[in-house]
Parts: sequence; structure tokens; C-alpha cells
Amino acid sequence: MPMPLLQEKVSSQESSDSSTATVMTPHSMDLKNGREKLKDLALHLVDDIRPEMKEDIHDPTYQDEVGPAPKLEYVWRNIILMALLHLGALYGITLAPGCKAYTWLWVLLCYVFSGLGITAGAHRLWSHRTYKARLPLRLFLIIANTMAFQTYVYEWARDNRAHHKFTETHADPHNSRRGFFFCHVGWLLVRKHPAVREKGGSLDLSDLKAEKLLMFQKRYYKPSVLLMCFILPTLVPWYCWGETFQHSLCVATFLRSILTHNMTWLVNSAAHLYGYRPYDKNIDARENALVSLGTLGEGFHNYHHTFPYDYSTSEYRWSLNFTTFFIDCMAAIGLAYDLKKVPKASILARIKRTGDGSYKSG
Ligand SMILES: [Zn+2]
Ligand SMILES: [Zn+2]
Repeated sequence: MPMPLLQEKVSSQESSDSSTATVMTPHSMDLKNGREKLKDLALHLVDDIRPEMKEDIHDPTYQDEVGPAPKLEYVWRNIILMALLHLGALYGITLAPGCKAYTWLWVLLCYVFSGLGITAGAHRLWSHRTYKARLPLRLFLIIANTMAFQTYVYEWARDNRAHHKFTETHADPHNSRRGFFFCHVGWLLVRKHPAVREKGGSLDLSDLKAEKLLMFQKRYYKPSVLLMCFILPTLVPWYCWGETFQHSLCVATFLRSILTHNMTWLVNSAAHLYGYRPYDKNIDARENALVSLGTLGEGFHNYHHTFPYDYSTSEYRWSLNFTTFFIDCMAAIGLAYDLKKVPKASILARIKRTGDGSYKSG
């Protein structure tokens, strides 16, 4: 709640003027934290290199209201769907050694293609506007994104902006303070917390609404997913090189899809729980190289939450970061442009100010 914090800030300055006491009571520590948080917000806004987008900047003034947690309401449709997909994927693991070599290559191709639809598309382009893309690239990314079956971009980007702005509060859709299972997959299996609905609804999503391609995907999402995530990946190996229907369905569709899902979810779970915080020790997001490896470069998460406007989601470019390599290739042929990169001096200043001391230069 921003207002009480601002009021407290004023009264704390008045009291520190009239007192020389050096004892830090819990209340005065709260006030000090409040001042630090406001300073952080101001610095974030100064550092930001995208004048047109502020909805993914952490708002440290927002805090959870005190009170009992609302009762969990299960969404049985999602629970059953996820359980069936995971069972199909487990069966796919047992079939995988018997697949033809072309089927393996097809799985890898679909994994990378749909992965880019999330990382280069829903995340770096549409959630954070870290670069601009011309129509052919946006078309490629929206088709790839549909294959990933992680909801349409409009909703994905709204959730990601809320995750950044209200991180680790109840308004964060996958609040990591609610434990590994919740932030990994549990958040998709229950109704959203009222704070997510309230604060998510207050975000400015006008840039997404104005993009016809995104509204088209939203409108025709169900049949498009059926085609791109289920029918096409199954039919190609079966029809083109005579793979069995069972192998095609369970490996190229169920196993591939569940792998993409779990890898993406690891960014919300593992990269918020395990790893160093060289850029900002005050947030839970962490640097996790293993997550970067599986997600085409999305595991540099302490950096990403500190500088959400950097197109590389990392201080570096191609190191464990296939998505940045892809965007750079697109830029080389003129399909991506206006790539935002945080200057080294700003990064080093931030490390000095808020890092956990784990940063290794060079
Ligand atoms: Zn993000
Ligand atoms: Zn995060």
C-alpha cells in the first residue's frame, strides 16, 4: 500500500530531526527500509532505458495486506489436463529410446522453436519491450508461441509484468514465498489470489491491446493450440518418415510439451530459490546457470529482475543464452531493431550498491 508508507516517510524525518537516539527499534528499521525502497524505485526509473514502458518495474511500495490467506479454490480442468499431459510424457520417456533419429531431431526443433516463442516472443519482446520486431519476425514468434501452449501472449505478458512489479507479494501470480510447488506449477492449478486479479487489472496493457496480431492469437487460441501444439508435431513424424503414431504422440507432443512447460516453470521456482544475487540481494530472484541452459538463456534471473529492460536478460550476450544469439541474428538481417542493453557502468554501480558480493569481474 503506497500511501501509508509515504506518510510514514514524512513522520520519520520529523522524528529524526528532533532526536539523537541511535537505538534501532523494529519500527524505525521499517521506516528506514521504506526510505530505501523508495530510493530503489526512483533509481530503477532513472536507469530504465525504455521511456515507453514502466509496467514491469518493481514497485517496492506495494505490500501485502495483513490477514488470513483466502481459501484455495482448485481449478479441476487444469489439474486433470496437466495430470494427463504429465502421464503421457512419462509414458513418452519409456518410448523415447525406440524413436527414429529424425524424430529426435524433430523434438529438438520443436523444443527450440516453441521455446523461442516464449523467450524471444512472449517474454523479451511483448512482456518487457526490450527490442522491436518487424512483422515477419512477429509472425514467426506468435506461431512458435502458440506451439508452446502457455496461454496467449496477452495473458502471459500481463502475468509477467505483475510478477515483476509486485514480485514476492500475493499480487505476484507465482509468488515464490508460497513454496516451490506453488511457484512452479501450483499457481496454474488454483484460482488466482484476489490481489493478483486486482493489481493485474490495474496494469497498463494498452500496447498489447493495440497489437492486432496478439488480439488475433487471443481470439483463435484454442483451435490454434490444437493445431500447433498437438496435431502438427504428431503428424509430421508419423506421415513424413513413418514413425509410429504412439511414438509421435507421446514423445514429439506430450514429452516435448511437458519438457518446455517444466523448463519455463523452473524460472519461476528454481531461479527464485537457488543461486547467487550479485546484482540485488534485496530480491529473491537468483542467477541459475542450469535454468539458463534449459530455457535458452532465461536463468540469469537476479539480473533480469534488476534490469528488466535488457534484451539479453543477462549482463552478457551469448553465454548460455541462445535467445540472445537468435535476436542478434534477427537484428543482423534487419528483422529486430532498437535492442536495449544496460550500460556496463550502470551494472557495476548497481552491483556495488545492492549486490551480495558474489560478483566475479572478467
Ligand atoms: Zn520477465
Ligand atoms: Zn521472476
